[in-house]
Amino acid sequence: MKFESIRRRVVEMSVLLADHGYFAATGGNLALRADDEHIVVTPSAVDYYQMGPEDICVLRLRNLSKVDGERKPSVESGMHAQLLRKRTDCCASIHTHQPAASALTLLGQPLPVQRANHQALLGPQVLIAGYAPSGTRWLSSKLTRVLRPDVNAYLLRTHGAICCGASPERALQAIAALEALATAYLRERIAARAALATPEQGALRKLIATLDAHPVQELIA
Ligand SMILES: [Zn+2]
Repeated sequence: MKFESIRRRVVEMSVLLADHGYFAATGGNLALRADDEHIVVTPSAVDYYQMGPEDICVLRLRNLSKVDGERKPSVESGMHAQLLRKRTDCCASIHTHQPAASALTLLGQPLPVQRANHQALLGPQVLIAGYAPSGTRWLSSKLTRVLRPDVNAYLLRTHGAICCGASPERALQAIAALEALATAYLRERIAARAALATPEQGALRKLIATLDAHPVQELIA
C-alpha cells in the first residue's frame, strides 16, 4: 500500500476529531501532504470509526487524479489541494463543521486573535472566505482569494472552518485553538446581550452556562 503510515495517521486523526466532536457523522475531512507530488485525503461519506488505511485516497496534488485507495475522495479534496499548493510550508489541512466556529461564520466577519499562544497557531487573525456551495471549485477559489502565508485558520461563510499547519499536530492544535477562540467570542457577545434586561435574558444566561460547562479541550494526538 502506498504511503501506508501516513494513511494510518489520517485514520487516527479522523477518529480523534470525531471523538472530540469536530467531525460529526461523516462531516469534516482532512488532507496530509505525502510528498512533493501527492496528498492523502479522507474518503467521501465513510464512517470515521469504520475507516481503514485502504479507504484513504492518495491523489496527485497537481490534478487530483487518484493514485491509490478504494474509495471516492472527499468532495473537499480540491479545497485542501488548493491550500496545500499555496501553503508549501504546511503539510496538513483540516476542514470541520465545528460548532462555535461554524456559528461564527454566520456573522461573516474576520476574528482578531489576541492571545500569544493562539497567535502562534492561528496567526494574527482568522479570515473569512465568501460563501460558495460545498465541494465546488467556486468554494476553493473563494478560499484561495483570502489565503495568506501567516494565517492558518479560515472561516467558510455559513459553512465551517479550515485550518492548516506545518505538521498534523499543529493543524489539530489550530482546530482546537480556533474553537476556543470562537467560543470565547460568542460567550462575550451573548453575555453583553444577557446584561440587558430583555425577555431573552434567562435563555441567554442558560446558554452561557452550557458553554461554560463544556470547555474546549486541546487535541493531543
Ligand atoms: Zn464542509
